[in-house]
Amino acid sequence: MTPISLFWHRRDLRIEDNRGLAAALESGHPVLGFFCFDKTILDVLPEVDARVGFIHTELEGMARKYKSASSQLIARHGVPLEEIQSLRQDLQAAGYELRQIHTNRDYAPYPVARDGEVRAWCEQEGIGFHTHDDHVILPPEAVLKDDGTPYTVFTPYSRKWHKVLDAQDSDPLAEAVVALDGQGIRPFPEQELPSLSSMGFDEASADPSGWAAFEGRQPDADVLRRYAERRDTPSVVGTARMSLHLRFGTVSVRSQARLGFVHSDKWLTELIWREFYQAIVHHFPHSAKDAFRAKYDRIPWRHDDDHFAAWCEGKTGYPLVDAGMRELNATGFMHNRVRMVVASFLCKHLLLDWRLGERYFAEKLLDFELASNVGGWQWASGSGCDAAPYFRVFNPESQLKKFDPSGTYVRRWVPEWGTPAYPAPIVEHKFARQRAIDTYKAALTEA
Ligand SMILES: Cc1cc2nc3c(=O)[nH]c(=O)nc-3n(C[C@H](O)[C@H](O)[C@H](O)COP(=O)(O)OP(=O)(O)OC[C@H]3O[C@@H](n4cnc5c(N)ncnc54)[C@H](O)[C@@H]3O)c2cc1C
Repeated sequence: MTPISLFWHRRDLRIEDNRGLAAALESGHPVLGFFCFDKTILDVLPEVDARVGFIHTELEGMARKYKSASSQLIARHGVPLEEIQSLRQDLQAAGYELRQIHTNRDYAPYPVARDGEVRAWCEQEGIGFHTHDDHVILPPEAVLKDDGTPYTVFTPYSRKWHKVLDAQDSDPLAEAVVALDGQGIRPFPEQELPSLSSMGFDEASADPSGWAAFEGRQPDADVLRRYAERRDTPSVVGTARMSLHLRFGTVSVRSQARLGFVHSDKWLTELIWREFYQAIVHHFPHSAKDAFRAKYDRIPWRHDDDHFAAWCEGKTGYPLVDAGMRELNATGFMHNRVRMVVASFLCKHLLLDWRLGERYFAEKLLDFELASNVGGWQWASGSGCDAAPYFRVFNPESQLKKFDPSGTYVRRWVPEWGTPAYPAPIVEHKFARQRAIDTYKAALTEA
């Protein structure tokens, strides 16, 4: 039997600058690439889902790269542990012994549980299970307070992040060199990826126009240089549009941070926010579903299907909210400033549970990332670790005047704005603001 190592790709859909893959190649055994289309995640998605199409398209490109390096990428559809067990049997039948599995860590609750099961099975079978940190620059345990507890406020976390980075012996931003050529293995005759239709998805999911909002693979240097000045203007492309690529690891976060150090501290800070939220969901897994601050779960959210539908469809009568929701529905992207406004509007003006909005974003955002999404929603609803105070209620009209004064962004998405066809506001601002403040206050001051 020839001993081999498996490298299990998950949210790192690239070969280049991949920490875990580089480590697997140093294991001393030839390496086979592996990806599992995880039924647990995919079974709840709609038939046309551009994210699944994006993953499939990326895997096709990666499979070609593995092949041209005389190696192989095997993809299966099912439950990861079961697929790994069946792959091991297929490998044995072909004369290969699975000795090690390498993978990059994912810090959210479901992947942590999934990896725990795979690790337990590996231990039982005498297979080495090795995890690596690649999705973030500094993993959750690396940035702690001096007393060893996790940070729950961003600014001191960010200060410590820089301090820890500076104190590393080797450069944490260095590119991981992946020398696949000659070290891979091709145990099977050519195997196709599972087709989208065989997994219950429409082939239209793979239409690249579905992820056109994230066309580029590298941020424009000019966008980064002018980031601080233009990041809050939704009518221009003043942000990097890298979130889809960071989500699925089609770019390495180290390559992005290096650009941040060169061009924009402000932009680098956003990458650190991303790491902060990863750390929060890792250290406080309850926050993936419940309020980070438990007393916020006492708020008596309203139930109003009509108001929720108006919000989802972008028909609230508040132009910036409606433009944002229509941008999301049409493209799978929404500008960060507008995400803040629509989220605040749902939780405060409509007094609807932040989880409804979080779920809607999870369905629609191409860059959906549990940690950042929950973090953003809990920030807006006031229930998060480092959230806006509950009594600060964004005024959607003032936000419009400040961030889209010419109305360019709104008109792009709401062409009927200013005509009789545009709906009247579904709630009156002053009334809704006061209702939110009173309701929050009563719930939070309950004995
Ligand atoms: C309610 C709400 C929900 C959100 N949901 C998500 C989500 O599901 N996935 C997601 O990636 N981001 C989410 N964000 C954060 C942010 O809106 C997006 O990361 C950003 O709009 C992506 O566009 P960009 O790549 O052009 O960002 P840029 O401004 O160019 O920022 C660069 C990168 O930094 C990271 N980043 C930027 N802002 C944040 C932030 N506030 N929190 C965490 N990371 C950040 C992203 O990875 C982003 O790609 C959410 C924000 C809010 C307010």
